[in-house]
Amino acid sequence: MAQVQRMSRLMVKTLRDDPADAETLSHKLLVRAGYVRRNAAGIWTWLPLGKKVLDNISRVVREEMDEIGAQEVLLPALLPKEAYEASGRWEEYGDLLFRLKDRKGADYLLGPTHEEIFTQTVKDQCTSYKDLPVMLYQIQTKYRDEARPRSGVLRGREFQMKDSYSFDTTDEGLAESYALHRAAYQKIFARLGLDFRIVSAVSGAMGGSASEEFLAPAAAGEDTFVDCPSCDYAANTEAVTFSPAAVAAAYDDAEHGPVVELDTPDTPTIETLADHLGVPASATLKNLLVKVDGEIVAVGVPGDREVDLGKLGEHLAPAVVELVTAEDFVGRPDLVRGYVGPQGLEKVRYIADPRVAAGTAWITGANKPDTHAKNVVAGRDFQVDDYLDVVVVEEGDPCPKCGAGLKLDRAIEIGHIFQLGRKYADTFQLDVLGQQGKPVRVTMGSYGIGVSRAVAALAEQSADDKGLCWPAEIAPADVHVVAAGKALQTELAVEVADKLGAAGLRVLVDERPGVSPGVKFTDAELIGVPKILVAGRRSAEGVVELKDRRTGEREELTVDEAIARLT
Ligand code: ATP
Ligand code: MG
Ligand code: MG
Ligand code: MG
Repeated sequence: MAQVQRMSRLMVKTLRDDPADAETLSHKLLVRAGYVRRNAAGIWTWLPLGKKVLDNISRVVREEMDEIGAQEVLLPALLPKEAYEASGRWEEYGDLLFRLKDRKGADYLLGPTHEEIFTQTVKDQCTSYKDLPVMLYQIQTKYRDEARPRSGVLRGREFQMKDSYSFDTTDEGLAESYALHRAAYQKIFARLGLDFRIVSAVSGAMGGSASEEFLAPAAAGEDTFVDCPSCDYAANTEAVTFSPAAVAAAYDDAEHGPVVELDTPDTPTIETLADHLGVPASATLKNLLVKVDGEIVAVGVPGDREVDLGKLGEHLAPAVVELVTAEDFVGRPDLVRGYVGPQGLEKVRYIADPRVAAGTAWITGANKPDTHAKNVVAGRDFQVDDYLDVVVVEEGDPCPKCGAGLKLDRAIEIGHIFQLGRKYADTFQLDVLGQQGKPVRVTMGSYGIGVSRAVAALAEQSADDKGLCWPAEIAPADVHVVAAGKALQTELAVEVADKLGAAGLRVLVDERPGVSPGVKFTDAELIGVPKILVAGRRSAEGVVELKDRRTGEREELTVDEAIARLT
């Protein structure tokens, strides 16, 4: 393919106005600069410029995955339901799954992530410990019927993901595969020019144990993370766990109801509690903190809420329960998120309640239909999500590791790595023949990068008030040559562009006839190629102007000097 792309032949229609439905900077700019086109909610077309950026990101991801010895494959996106039924995710994913039937009425889904199918693939292909470890990856289109597909390509219902999976026979092997991926991700995001943090995360619907997220700080992000200014602690707020002492301290700071200290080795029953309080088992009390042997087993949020002991009774096992009644949150989807699983509403998380004093944390635990969330309707009364069991944290809360005041920031989740362990291997009985001649159960990791989301994350982090402003490795071209004038300037611009192209640079040259220099400059800044070379006023002398898109610095150079500078 030609290294020189003429603007007159490029399919790009830039817009001066933001699309009406766009809220985030990246959404506005990617549409206005002609990178993407919306087909439907969360469904996008990648136009020529956008496709180049997407491909550049894929190339970097590919290079670093190959570097750690992962092998590229391509699995189908259209999948029969059986494997997802076996893992439980056909049910568990609920509305998030795109489901469809074939002409014979058999059920299919469009893959949201591929743990099941990779497990089956390896079961089929690897039979001996000698075949492992193995790491496989793909860059593929994923489908998730997101509840709120907004912010452009940041959250698509169809999107590009790099997903990889590791297969090992030992826990140490898994730790090593995980470490390899972690290091590769650090290299990838650094090469992409993204500012990112690695934070502790919760595993959610994926299952498994350890997991970390790669977050790109940005105002448009839908995740919140805490960052400790004094130590290396950083975590998604979903994954912050406070010590019982921290919870009790927060509780003590606020106006609250009775604190019940139960001196019993057994899980308290509702009768034990009622006895202790000297009230009937059917009583309703204002806020309550329940401790067993000094350990908090239940917390009522200070405020104006009442705790129905009868309902509490259902929740005394497992130990950590949450006693806020959900009626307070009806019609407040901004405050509440819930998880709807096979049994209907399973868990509810109260995100934040302005009536609750700053620093107050509370815990959610097992929930049951019609208890905490009485009379509320998922989707109508709260946002539906896929992860829970968290403590809400606020700015200034004590760091769980060192006690310093935590900082809170918004970020975009650009990558997520999991030590899955044997969950999927157990489901599909993925064993290989071990060294001793006996079958050994395989242990797995799974690792994702939002390739299309990274385009938006990069746009968010690097754009300025003039438009997009890509890091060099990712930009759709290395240099944008602008012919600012008539025939003479156009001739020079094309000549320089050809020379730069011959020298191996990727060049965009704006030689559009009848388009004013002003429009060309505005477009060049909007499109965001890192270097802009202008053939203008002094073209007759063979002098051009080289401008840095980011800093705005400009200098006049002869054509040869400019070429030497750029190559
Ligand atoms: P989110 O919390 O944003 O919904 P997730 O935790 O559900 O993301 P994972 O299952 O961890 O996503 O998938 C791996 C990666 O795929 C994510 O880290 C993210 O970068 C990307 N990703 C997930 N959902 C989307 C989406 N709807 N559109 C674009 N990229 C996505
Ligand atoms: Mg999600
Ligand atoms: Mg997430
Ligand atoms: Mg994730």
